[in-house]
Amino acid sequence: MNLMQKSKNIAVIGSGLVGSLLALFLRKRGHEVTVFDRRPDVRHIQFSGRSINLAMSNRGWNALKKVGIEAEIRKLALPLDKRALHLNDKPLYFQKYGKEGEAIYSISRGILNRKMIDLAEAAGAIFKFEEKVWDIELSEAKIYTGESEKGAWQEYQFDLVFGADGAFSRVRHKMQRQSRFNYSQEFIDVGYKELTIPANADGTHKLDNTSFHIWPRGEFMLIAMPNLNGSFTCTLFMPFEGDVSFENIKTEAQAEGFFATYFPDIKDDISNLTRDFFKNPTSAMVTMKCFPWTYGDKVALVGDSAHAIVPFYGQGMNAGFEDISVLDDLLLQYGDDWEKIFREYENSRKPNADAISELSYRNFIEMSSKTADPGFLLRKKIERHFAEKYPDKWVPLYSRVTFSNKPYAEALSIGDEQRAVMDKVMELRDIENKWDSKEVEMYILKLLDNNK
Ligand SMILES: Cc1cc2nc3c(=O)[nH]c(=O)nc-3n(C[C@H](O)[C@H](O)[C@H](O)COP(=O)(O)OP(=O)(O)OC[C@H]3O[C@@H](n4cnc5c(N)ncnc54)[C@H](O)[C@@H]3O)c2cc1C
Repeated sequence: MNLMQKSKNIAVIGSGLVGSLLALFLRKRGHEVTVFDRRPDVRHIQFSGRSINLAMSNRGWNALKKVGIEAEIRKLALPLDKRALHLNDKPLYFQKYGKEGEAIYSISRGILNRKMIDLAEAAGAIFKFEEKVWDIELSEAKIYTGESEKGAWQEYQFDLVFGADGAFSRVRHKMQRQSRFNYSQEFIDVGYKELTIPANADGTHKLDNTSFHIWPRGEFMLIAMPNLNGSFTCTLFMPFEGDVSFENIKTEAQAEGFFATYFPDIKDDISNLTRDFFKNPTSAMVTMKCFPWTYGDKVALVGDSAHAIVPFYGQGMNAGFEDISVLDDLLLQYGDDWEKIFREYENSRKPNADAISELSYRNFIEMSSKTADPGFLLRKKIERHFAEKYPDKWVPLYSRVTFSNKPYAEALSIGDEQRAVMDKVMELRDIENKWDSKEVEMYILKLLDNNK
């Protein structure tokens, strides 16, 4: 069934990546859309030092394609088809992400957000910046904005309200006061800080610009992703407290010494290292889960406001974009029955949001501590070897998450089965020397057969 929808007057709270994409979709379906953001218009401000670039993968592209802006956004992105591992005292080690032609795409958060707001505005969405939502009457779809919590508020009446207001959502905050609303929030004890590797004088990149660079160092790690202008954005992930920690780097000399010890190959390329280390903020990362995500046929949460995850699978925005793409499918399917649309939306998305949350947390452990471990690298090598020979029998977990649009929950459960198979394979005697043998191959086939 393909029902036309009656035009509604809809508020979207938050003009971030997910809110602006939602505005675009809703306009395409003929709704009146007003987007509120407490911040100034991102198109007119200098970017701050918070999470400068992101990795876009299939799910993100899929949503952009649906709304007809994929080609335009691709022009802003750089494909990365492999990891480049910078292991201490070892040559650079490249690890392909997927099959030929598969890549994740590095894109500037600010440039992407500006473009999406431009596109949504051109499609007819109205943006109201520097207008913070303080309260919302859920059953009435009324919102209240104003200069301050205590000052005078302006009331707006809408037919529907979407909360796209991020991990510390005000809309969700109001929903939390309902009976039987479940909510949890957990910060990890690792923080992050962003630094920059500027372009060479001729505008070229200082490192390979088709790789996602990682310096895994056990409890902490540095990563770098290229930008279109020749620079790289580096992110240092490190515990807040402890032996090697943000807390223990207090002086410029200590920062200098830390980089000289752990990242000697890149230290001199980072611009104003010691100044930026103290100037740029150390930010926290949180996992947030909640349910339900909707209120009657009036209010729904999308993106980080419904499911904030740690960034180690590069899927937060992708998952948020997928929310919108699923929602749009439901709009087409159920027409004006918003109650049904919201119910189906939250029921189908919640298990997938939980799955990517779990996978992201596991990747946090994997990226920091295991990417340097020889046993782990061998395991990945065997998996890749087998997957290349039997592509219909083994799609690696990373590919299921990153290069597919199949549900995250399916990726998690098949990934767990594969992990059990690989645990057994790694127990084989002399596996280091016979990892690419027929014997190992037959053994994996047998284990997979047993699982059927
Ligand atoms: C270090 C880091 C790296 C990441 N890397 C990746 C990656 O590689 N790939 C990926 O897919 N994801 C990544 N993510 C996740 C991604 O950034 C988020 O999932 C995504 O930005 C969520 O978008 P959003 O629109 O839901 O929320 P946000 O981007 O948080 O936007 C929320 C908006 O709501 C506004 N707002 C908040 N409260 C109010 C209010 N009361 N009234 C009005 N407006 C309000 C805010 O000003 C903001 O503009 C990363 C995150 C971090 C922290």
